[in-house]
Amino acid sequence: MDDRQFRNAMGKFATGVNVIATEVGGEVYGMTANAFMSVSLDPKLIVISIGDKAKMLERIRQSGRFSVNVLSCEQQDESMRFAGQKQFEDKFEFDRLGETPVVKDALCQLSCEVYNEHVEGDHVLFVGKVEKLALEDGDPLIFNCGKYRRLEAPEEVLSK
Ligand code: FAD
Ligand code: NAD
Repeated sequence: MDDRQFRNAMGKFATGVNVIATEVGGEVYGMTANAFMSVSLDPKLIVISIGDKAKMLERIRQSGRFSVNVLSCEQQDESMRFAGQKQFEDKFEFDRLGETPVVKDALCQLSCEVYNEHVEGDHVLFVGKVEKLALEDGDPLIFNCGKYRRLEAPEEVLSK
C-alpha cells in the first residue's frame, strides 16, 4: 500500500478543520489540523495528532499548553494560512481565552493543558485537558477527499 492510497482512504472520512495555537517566549504560533477527537468527559479530555516534522510539535512541548479552534465555513483562509497553503501579507491577530491564544470567530475555542503525550509512528498524540471553552453559532468548514467543503442545506437534511 503506498502513502497516496492510504491518504485517499483517510480522506474519505470527512472532518471539520481546526487551528491549533500555542505561545512560546511571547510569540504565538498556529497550525491547521484535522486529526482531533473528544476522549473523556471526566476529566474533560481531547486528543490532537501532530506530525514529527511539524514545528508545532516542539512548540507545544515547550509551552505545555495549546488551544483548539474549530473553524467556521467562513474561515478557509485561516486554514490555508496556518497550513502554509496560501501566503498573506497582513499580521494575524489572535484573541485570548484566559491567557491562551485563540482564533477569533472560531465556532469553538478550547483552551487546554497538555495532560499526556504518546509517540505513535511519525506523529505525536497530545491529550489535552480542557480548562476553558467558548462557543459561537455558525456552520463548520469541512475537509473531505483533500478538498475544503461546506455543509449543504444542513437543516433540510436533518429534518428528513
Ligand atoms: P509552520 O510551517 O511554521 O506554520 C504553518 C503556517 O502557519 C506557516 O505558513 C506560517 O507562516 C503560519 N503561521 C504560524 N504562526 C503564525 C502567526 N502567528 N501568524 C501568521 N501566520 C502564522 N498536520 C498535522 O501534523 N496534524 C494534522 O492533524 C494536520 N491536519 C491538517 C488538516 C488540513 C485540512 C491541512 C490542510 C493540513 C493539515 N496538517 C496537519 C498539515 C499542517 O497544517 C502543515 O504541515 C503545517 O504547515 C505545519 O506547520 P508547522 O507547525 O510546521 O509550522
Ligand atoms: P490528503 O489527501 O493528504 O489528506 C487526506 C487525509 O489523509 C487527511 O484528512 C488525513 O486523515 C490523512 N493524512 C494526510 N497526510 C497525512 C500524514 N502526513 N499523516 C497522517 N495522515 C495523513 O490531503 P491534502 O490536501 O494533500 O493535504 C494537504 C497537506 O496537509 C498534505 O501535506 C498532508 O500531508 C497534510 N495533512 C496532514 C495531516 C496529518 O498529519 N495528520 C492531516 C491532513 C493533512
